[in-house]
Amino acid sequence: MLTRSEPGTRIQERPDPEEAAGRLRATGISVSFAGLRALDDVDLELRSGEILGLIGPNGAGKSTLVNTLTGFQRCTGRLVVDGVDMTGSSPPRLSRSGVRRTFQNVRLFPAMTVYENVEVVGLGLGMGHRKVRALAEDVLDRFGMSHLSATSAGSLPYGIERRLGIARILVGGARYVLLDEPAAGLNEDESDELLELLTRLPEMFSCGLMVIEHDLRLIMRLCHRLQVIDHGRVLAVGDPAIVRRDPAVVEAYLGHDRAGGEVLGAADR
Ligand code: ADP
Ligand code: MG
Repeated sequence: MLTRSEPGTRIQERPDPEEAAGRLRATGISVSFAGLRALDDVDLELRSGEILGLIGPNGAGKSTLVNTLTGFQRCTGRLVVDGVDMTGSSPPRLSRSGVRRTFQNVRLFPAMTVYENVEVVGLGLGMGHRKVRALAEDVLDRFGMSHLSATSAGSLPYGIERRLGIARILVGGARYVLLDEPAAGLNEDESDELLELLTRLPEMFSCGLMVIEHDLRLIMRLCHRLQVIDHGRVLAVGDPAIVRRDPAVVEAYLGHDRAGGEVLGAADR
């Protein structure tokens, strides 16, 4: 029955499409490999505009989680993107809906130019040449790489090559960007430049950004929220300043990685 609301009272709340939009939400995600429980009932939420750090010791299940969120790994659980149920969707479908990722340790096409490395992603998504050209030029421009368009990717300095690896996945409507160890192999200066770029990314592209990274100093400077997994389970999620003091988190790191445990456990950065 409909009732008229009195001034100052609220009509009973219904699910709000505005609330569902702007979120990638995975719930109850589990993955097993021949008896090994790589992910066990994991929930994860990535909001548009935020930077979420996903950390955990080696073998924790971080890459497997990115694989499930992008359709590369079958799982049980549910995946909702901007209010649309995308559970079981293929990688191209998720990519077209704006869920984009980089792979750990995957390099570019070194014989192709910088421009062609971006173009190939747009063409792979089924866009026409003319549209791809405009979108690719736009991404390279925002990344300050337009002057390198005709350079072969294989001749780029490593830090720039890694930057191109991120630029190319943003072509045409990235909404949720998942980066698997983007700072791996970078020196300190390159890592600082990456930090500066990633900090601006959510605003530049109106997207949410999730970063997996072993460099905890970078993570602590970059992220608005932190989620920690270990042995396929969520140990903690929330404000980085609080999560990094969580005894279970510090212990998980000290067990595997003393330096990481000390960074997380340190009272002051
Ligand atoms: P992380 O990225 O956190 O280091 P992964 O997600 O790569 O961890 O791996 C989680 C666990 O799942 C590890 O024990 C790993 O050996 C195992 N694993 C990952 N991918 C596969 C696969 N394709 N087949 C079998 N085991 C896998
Ligand atoms: Mg990994």
